[in-house]
Amino acid sequence: MNVSLSIEFTEHICISCGCVFYVPDTFDTQRRRDKKSFFCYNGHSQAYVKSAEEEVREEMQRKLAERDRVIQSNAEYSTRLSRELNELKKKCKPVDEKPKPHGNTGKRKARRVSA
Ligand SMILES: [Zn+2]
Repeated sequence: MNVSLSIEFTEHICISCGCVFYVPDTFDTQRRRDKKSFFCYNGHSQAYVKSAEEEVREEMQRKLAERDRVIQSNAEYSTRLSRELNELKKKCKPVDEKPKPHGNTGKRKARRVSA
């Protein structure tokens, strides 16, 4: 019985000691994605760093999430204020929305003059 196994490897050169080492391609793909560190044979830590574009994209995601939280919070606050305002309105007599004329309104009463 013959068993054939094929694993692809990615070559790395340690940034500290310069040794050449190999990791399976699937491992390398995961490290590129999750940015976790890995080590050369001599124990030196290696890692893929985030690109400037990835940093900007993550900052955008944080800002969008923050904006959504603020919108949600403001909506809840507005709803609560409206509810409190309605409760207060129920406790009062209806308030005339139009301001009552005060003082000289520009209108004059007509005087009847008899001859
Ligand atoms: Zn090393």
